Amino acid sequence: MQLRSTRRTTIKLYEFQARDLLARYGCAIPRGIIASSEKEAIAAAREIGGSVFVKAQVLSGGRGKAGGVKFAASPEEAGKAARAVLSMRIGGVEVNRVLVVQALQIKQEYYIGLTIDRGARCVRCILSAEGGMDIEFAARKMPEKIVSFPLPLYSQTQRFKVTEALVNAFGDAVAADQAGEAVVSMNRLFNEKDCSLVEINPYVLTKEDRLIAADAKIVVDDNALYKHPDMAALRNDEEFGRDELAAAAEGLSFVELDGDIGCMVNGAGLAMATMDLITICGGRPANFLDVGGSSNPQKVVDAFKILQSNKNIKVVLVNIFGGITRGDDIARGIILARQELGVTKPMVVRLTGTSEEQGRSMLAEAGITAQSEMAAAVQSAVAIARAAS
Ligand code: GDP
Ligand code: MN
Repeated sequence: MQLRSTRRTTIKLYEFQARDLLARYGCAIPRGIIASSEKEAIAAAREIGGSVFVKAQVLSGGRGKAGGVKFAASPEEAGKAARAVLSMRIGGVEVNRVLVVQALQIKQEYYIGLTIDRGARCVRCILSAEGGMDIEFAARKMPEKIVSFPLPLYSQTQRFKVTEALVNAFGDAVAADQAGEAVVSMNRLFNEKDCSLVEINPYVLTKEDRLIAADAKIVVDDNALYKHPDMAALRNDEEFGRDELAAAAEGLSFVELDGDIGCMVNGAGLAMATMDLITICGGRPANFLDVGGSSNPQKVVDAFKILQSNKNIKVVLVNIFGGITRGDDIARGIILARQELGVTKPMVVRLTGTSEEQGRSMLAEAGITAQSEMAAAVQSAVAIARAAS
């Protein structure tokens, strides 16, 4: 299961992006071409030659079990498979692209995953000779089939240090030797790109005794994105709600929730406290939104634009405790929003702090009463939302 809060601080890559990155770091991957139509898939299969797999490109796992990974013995079959897969929804998401990859003759499916072990403050490498689609099952029913060990920083990771664990996990010295190289590459990638997950499942041992990454999953910590413009460019919209994308474009700190009280607050701490108080008073916040500590009426207008277009929102609660933020600027923003956007949703405004008298009298002239107590404002917003549902 995916936690909403986790997905806000990560960037998940599609398989075709993840495998390209792995290849750049020296891991072997099968030949593949991305396609977004039946025709393109046929051309891709022809180009690759021989049998292929046609694989849905979506961010959720378990594509194989959902029928999103199909074998095709000829370009025509690849076309058919692509048509089928492109008409699917997996995990509620439309499939818009497929990866056509050279089919491998599989002798064994292994698992290699690198993740962060917060308790031990290190990167942990997880290995299993029981990779493939049932790795979760193996982890639960046969934990002894999973080997894991802490990895030193990549600059100190040498192949011989991981070989023993690999031999233990895979039970095959030749496989372990090749996999050792992959683990070192994955660790370098993990560190250099600030990942929170780098996973190859299955890591395939072919009939020709070659090891090759048949699937790839990479999650990047988005707190580190400022260091990696190349990773930031890979941010996939599929992960984010419509309002979140709009907010990101306006430079607002915004998280979509499932309630009906729209929140516009200055400062992340007050925004959190506002959501808490709404919940305590029996209401449900529709979002987290920090309009920032700066004092810019345009930010208020931008924020209203997003809240106004959200059909779930019954009332907008503006909660401002002015420090650097000036009450008159906020008032100007609210009035501008009403004029420019024709804001029709009911709103409750709480305004205290810097320039509050000025802000309040500007709002009063526009027919808006601003409150000074947070609890009272929250209670009225909750009451309005309740009456409207
Ligand atoms: P996931 O279900 O989303 O993890 O998708 P995967 O890419 O891991 O594919 C699921 C399964 O399809 C794998 O575990 C393999 O059993 C199978 N598969 C994928 N690629 C190949 C391939 O090239 N050859 C063969 N024989 N099977 C493959
Ligand atoms: Mn997989």
